Amino acid sequence: MLFPALHTAQDEPALRFGDRALTYGELARVAGSLAHRIRSAVGEPPRVAVWATPSLETAVGTVAALLAGVPAVPINPKIGERELAHIVADSGPGLVLVEPGTVLPSGLDTVTRLDVTLDDRTQQAEPLPEEPGGEAPAFIVYTSGTTGAPKGVVLPRRAVTSTLDALRDAWQWTADDVLVHALPLFHVHGLILGVLGPLRRGGSVRHVGRFSPAAVAAELTTGATMMFGVPTMYHRIANEVDDDPELAAALAGARLLVSGSAALPVRDHERITAATGQRVVERYGMTETLMNTSVRADGERRPGTVGLPLRGVELRLVDERGTPIEVRDGETVGEIEVRGPNLFTEYLNRPDATAQAFHDGWFRTGDMAVRDEDGYVRIVGRKATDLIKSGGYRIGAGEIENALLEHPGVAEVAVTGEPDDDLGERIVAWVVPRGTAPAEEELAEHVARLLTPHKRPRVVRFLDALPRNDMGKVMKRALHG
Ligand code: ATP
Ligand code: MG
Repeated sequence: MLFPALHTAQDEPALRFGDRALTYGELARVAGSLAHRIRSAVGEPPRVAVWATPSLETAVGTVAALLAGVPAVPINPKIGERELAHIVADSGPGLVLVEPGTVLPSGLDTVTRLDVTLDDRTQQAEPLPEEPGGEAPAFIVYTSGTTGAPKGVVLPRRAVTSTLDALRDAWQWTADDVLVHALPLFHVHGLILGVLGPLRRGGSVRHVGRFSPAAVAAELTTGATMMFGVPTMYHRIANEVDDDPELAAALAGARLLVSGSAALPVRDHERITAATGQRVVERYGMTETLMNTSVRADGERRPGTVGLPLRGVELRLVDERGTPIEVRDGETVGEIEVRGPNLFTEYLNRPDATAQAFHDGWFRTGDMAVRDEDGYVRIVGRKATDLIKSGGYRIGAGEIENALLEHPGVAEVAVTGEPDDDLGERIVAWVVPRGTAPAEEELAEHVARLLTPHKRPRVVRFLDALPRNDMGKVMKRALHG
């Protein structure tokens, strides 16, 4: 059973979006009756799209689909025509769940629309059939498309339950926790961790809509205990917290601040700690695997690391030939491979991509990392875009980015490689300056001094902003245009 509290809790708060809220009793009734409507209208194959606006309706619709045992396909409401056409053709949903009043794009004309109404709290006519088993698909989630065309990741129900229960263990997450939420709901971070996580624990979620440090602070001072965010949010917090004693006090009082979806720059982590005493907990996951590692709530919170494999997750590093690297020297870079109950079953309609993604039964994450002596994982970047082969060295972009962020003239940075006749690839730093742009030579020397000379950028390009997707992730492919 995914959400035991739906059967046991009654008047306790479950979901709040802005000023609209549902208790567990209300959620059980609304989602229960919607589940009946989904089952009778969905057709074959049973799949329901969710037009995933950051709303109570999206949360209720998703819970209803899970109760109905019908896989849900969350869709980013800002999606473009071509990507929408691909997702609709690829996943073939029989229904689309929407917030009443929503104008849907023409790409969804062929799909039956089901408005999620929250006043339908009538007693359920008949009980729902038993929930399907762990291998049944719970979701088809399309990847962010950071590195290529989005693929439909089929996530079984056991991946959802095992990840959420491993996070309970790592974060000491209980029914007393109240999560402040400001993330989108079309992605595993905001939807599975941020909405389903608290519901599985019997705790509650407060979604504040658009993120702002002030909105988060207001919730943390009125009962919220934890926050999940992406690094761009912590970056804004780091920029404001020094001059905002109320924000600093609110963060200082939180039980847990968690960052994920992309690397949290060490500098932002340290600035938040300096102002609040809080150490942000970083975790690492992906659509295909849900969560792989995390710093534990009761463990050492070391900036720049994503901690240890979660309970039930096996993790190893392999070299370019796929041979496991046993050393834990904090230096030898390998690709992360994982195995465990948190993994997806397949890419929808992509047996080729599914086969390629596995190596001896292990999932190839495409992420490169080192392990410290005590097993802590430090991600150095993605194999496709962040591993620079320069002058015979394999250099991770993340380490150089962190070093450049320590320079006072650098507000944001992305490091990439580009072809070079002598070096194979040369290191390029794309810098959003803070104030007057520093001299190129000064930045190169700064990196050479902090790291080693061969890691210094050969080219520095200044820009006003980095290209980012809806999760705030830097789209490195767009930099080389
Ligand atoms: P696509 O697969 O379509 O290119 P994507 O990989 O960005 O897109 P997601 O599944 O949303 O899609 O993101 C997972 C990736 O995000 C991971 O493989 C990793 O590169 C990155 N990531 C997640 N958490 C962290 C973290 N804490 N530190 C560094 N990178 C992270
Ligand atoms: Mg990916």
